[in-house]
Amino acid sequence: MPEVSFQERIEIFPRSVKGRYRTIKTSILVLAYSVYFLLPWLRWDREVGPAQAILFDIESRRFYIFDLVVYAQDIFWLAGLLLIAAFLLFFVTGLAGRVFCGYFCFQTLWTDVFVFIERLVQGERNARIKLSQAPWTNQKMFKMGLTHFLWFLVALLTGLSFTLYWGNAPELIVQMVTGKAPFAAYATTFFLTMTTYVMAGLAREQVCTYMCPYARFQAVMFDSDTLIVAYDENRGERENGRQKPKKGLMTSAERDNASVGDCIDCGYCVQVCPTGIDIRNGMQYQCTSCALCIDACNTIMTSIKFPTGLIRYSSEHELKGEKTKRFNAKNIGYAITLIATIVLLVWSVVTRSDIEMLVRQIRQPLSVTLSDGRIQNRYDIKINNKTTKLVKYHISVNGIKNAELDMGRFTEIYLPAEHSVKLIAKVRVSPENVSQSRTKINFVIDSINSEIKHKVIQKNVFYVPEKQLIYKQNGK
Ligand code: SF4
Ligand code: SF4
Repeated sequence: MPEVSFQERIEIFPRSVKGRYRTIKTSILVLAYSVYFLLPWLRWDREVGPAQAILFDIESRRFYIFDLVVYAQDIFWLAGLLLIAAFLLFFVTGLAGRVFCGYFCFQTLWTDVFVFIERLVQGERNARIKLSQAPWTNQKMFKMGLTHFLWFLVALLTGLSFTLYWGNAPELIVQMVTGKAPFAAYATTFFLTMTTYVMAGLAREQVCTYMCPYARFQAVMFDSDTLIVAYDENRGERENGRQKPKKGLMTSAERDNASVGDCIDCGYCVQVCPTGIDIRNGMQYQCTSCALCIDACNTIMTSIKFPTGLIRYSSEHELKGEKTKRFNAKNIGYAITLIATIVLLVWSVVTRSDIEMLVRQIRQPLSVTLSDGRIQNRYDIKINNKTTKLVKYHISVNGIKNAELDMGRFTEIYLPAEHSVKLIAKVRVSPENVSQSRTKINFVIDSINSEIKHKVIQKNVFYVPEKQLIYKQNGK
């Protein structure tokens, strides 16, 4: 049996860096955190339903998203959303590589904050390395303890905020603190807290390198035109490789003359890398395209008055001096599919009827012959008022001559906002008015409020036993 061995984890202590991409990343992070943590607290005026802008109400099987109420039967929208997310990811990856990983992924955003806390408590990279190697003194215990305490606090807030999306936030938080919240709320908070703490605090780059499936399959979406973070090897190495600056090799022009690369081998690009790789070794699957090495190298290049861009966003074609074709057939295909899916979803949301009617024929018995010779079929009718107002409905049938609809005492239906009702309707038809055993019949529901005007038609069939068909008996 071959011996299986695992590479021992090398702890990474990313150094801080300033620059254009760090600023973009920080801005996205602040925006994402503000939205995530504040959204459950945003109030929203509704005539009926909770006063919370975003609330996923499992109990009543409704999702409240600002003015949109998503019912259980609209769950296919979720499939639409997932498709949009997938095609957006394919399109963006085909065009700009792993920008999702570098700027928007939860793992990246939360790890960034955890590293910031670590830096705040323990100091810059060198101080952190020193501390990790130092024996366990009181000072080390205090700093490590404080770091883990703050990590846990952020993780707890993350878990708690997630739970608040599933209930009325002000009420639920009081219930949570006083021990009166449902078990599911505590379980969800605990699970999210622990996963956040472990993933962003302890596992970090290991999640991207070993656990994330996207890291593995995104390579198939790459081509030679995809934007990647790349080291310009021609300029960085030239014929004689990298060398530290020294007399005769101080300016970019001098180095060019001596065929020495512009990389001064300072290592800053490696020190800032959150996944601990050296981008100068070429494209690696661990690279999340965070672009912090670009900021690091540009800082160095600027300080030694060399042109920036030794590490930059580029493409394989561009690095070889060839033309990059951003919108190739594959990316155009992704874009078309993405736009089509968005249009379909928006159309489905915008044109959704505020009345829902489901009609089901009762099969036992399928038909009854009445004393006056007419045939009677029965139907289960379910009406759902999705509006936030009381609506008055009128139901009728058409499609069969002189069909009589009998709903007992319900000639008109008053249905309160966001309520549904189930009725049994009887339809009576004279056999001479139908020519086949199964005849199409339409159930029509009209809202007759002055302000809410809707009409829904549900198709069904009316059954007459073959032996009672007058047409047949007459031989027609
Ligand atoms: S190599 Fe550069 S872009 Fe890639 S993960 Fe490291 S710092 Fe980010
Ligand atoms: S930061 Fe730039 S100059 Fe420094 S080692 Fe990296 S590539 Fe070379």
